[in-house]
Amino acid sequence: MYIMHYPIIPRPNKLIERKGFFILNEETCVKTSQECTKFVSYLKELVETPTGFTIDINSRDKVENTIEFLLNKNLALEKEGYHLNITEDKIVIKARESVGLFYGMQTLRQLLPPEIESNSPIEDIEWKIPCVSIEDYPRFKWRGHMLDVCRHFFGVDVVKKTLNLMALQKLNVFHWHLTEDQGWRIEIKKYPKLTDIGSKRADTQLKHSRSRKFRGKPHGGFYTQEEIREIVEYAKKRFITVVPEIEIPGHSQAAIAAYPELTCFGDNFEVASTFGVKKIIYCPGKDEVFKFWKDVLTEVMNLFPSEVIHIGGDEVPKDRWQECPDCQKLIKEKNLKNEEDLQVYVTNTMASFLAENGRRLMGWNEILDEGLEPNAICHYWAHSEKEVLKHIKMGRDMVNSKNKFTYLNYGYKGMPLEKVYSFDPVLEGLEGEELKHVLGLETPLWTEWIPDQKTLEFQAFPRIMALAEISWTSKENRDYTSFFQRLQAFEKRLDYLKVNYANEEERNPSLIARIRKLIRGK
Ligand SMILES: [Zn+2]
Repeated sequence: MYIMHYPIIPRPNKLIERKGFFILNEETCVKTSQECTKFVSYLKELVETPTGFTIDINSRDKVENTIEFLLNKNLALEKEGYHLNITEDKIVIKARESVGLFYGMQTLRQLLPPEIESNSPIEDIEWKIPCVSIEDYPRFKWRGHMLDVCRHFFGVDVVKKTLNLMALQKLNVFHWHLTEDQGWRIEIKKYPKLTDIGSKRADTQLKHSRSRKFRGKPHGGFYTQEEIREIVEYAKKRFITVVPEIEIPGHSQAAIAAYPELTCFGDNFEVASTFGVKKIIYCPGKDEVFKFWKDVLTEVMNLFPSEVIHIGGDEVPKDRWQECPDCQKLIKEKNLKNEEDLQVYVTNTMASFLAENGRRLMGWNEILDEGLEPNAICHYWAHSEKEVLKHIKMGRDMVNSKNKFTYLNYGYKGMPLEKVYSFDPVLEGLEGEELKHVLGLETPLWTEWIPDQKTLEFQAFPRIMALAEISWTSKENRDYTSFFQRLQAFEKRLDYLKVNYANEEERNPSLIARIRKLIRGK
């Protein structure tokens, strides 16, 4: 009965099956206190269009056929947890905080027929909700998804759809990768050339980073500060924190194309049209460069309330720093060992600047080194797991985006759904108190070879749902067969949401599946 009746993703941590159904109809009304009224508008937004009903609030002293939202600070529940109790007479969602009510509502949403996701009225359907008792809470507090809008630009609508689909899966961190060699995507008032020049490139490489094939047309785009505020607000309504990423000191060729004085020899470059790691990076030997970073981050902090600010820090070839008199002078002055140490100096300087403003630095694991500010969060993606482990054991927080399991841009052949589902963000060798430094996981979606929304969704779905379940559901409640079956039931919902997901054969391209395809002659 579980699978048929309760195709919930991520799987709730405690679920007791009950007999019978609650029927949502014209008479159903919502009961709630003043502090929960925003949930009523969420519910109205969700159900009124497809059902054609008007949901009344507290209209009568009704006991039966009601949906009730209850906030209770004294509930013995985790911060994001909720209780959802559905009987034939009424539905009650209880939580300690608003975010819990929101997640309870997402679960209720998934128990309604998939037609509830339709954006036009559906007729001849009974809006049956199976009775159940759920007590649920997340395993990790950081349940993230990263979108690279630099290699290919995606507009406000795509970002909003991403946020909607994240909320459905109880994901709560949207990591927005905003600056790159191939494009600067965020308006900075103090440096208008970043978008005037840095947001456009002449062409785009196709196939792979050594290829000589190009699309043959320019590509560009950026978000105005007004659009960014709108997105941040939209995310907040869905209990999603937007963490911006401004790459320092590498992946910076687009900024340098706009302001050549930011690189070591002040030489001119174009916004990159090819992919792969670039050697044209910022020069930390110049005071103006630190001023530039601080100015940019000041505007960024004004736009993003997130405590955590991501500064990238990955893939920083130091060839130019070795030759640059300004960089060498700074290394001497600060008594640094070498160019690697210079990157630590850069990261620590930015970490203190962010800390002075009440924020916290996060960077990819290349920032790790002796002497790195202990409060900086490590975003693990590749290379030495041993070093990451060492830092966690010393007390450093970590978010896991191990590329071989979480990089949604990788092909399904090397990273099928089943492999993704086997991932665990807790590194082997951690125990006791150390475990709390694993904040959670994130699913990066890099877009070098993803030119459109259709491909973007195909890469993400359904693997992002497997990762959402890993980040929410406790390890002992995880089960691939159950996930697989719930996903089959979920597909109709994705169809209504117009998500271009990979189908059953595409998501686990096994040998047998490929043979079957051959036989069918497709
Ligand atoms: Zn330099």
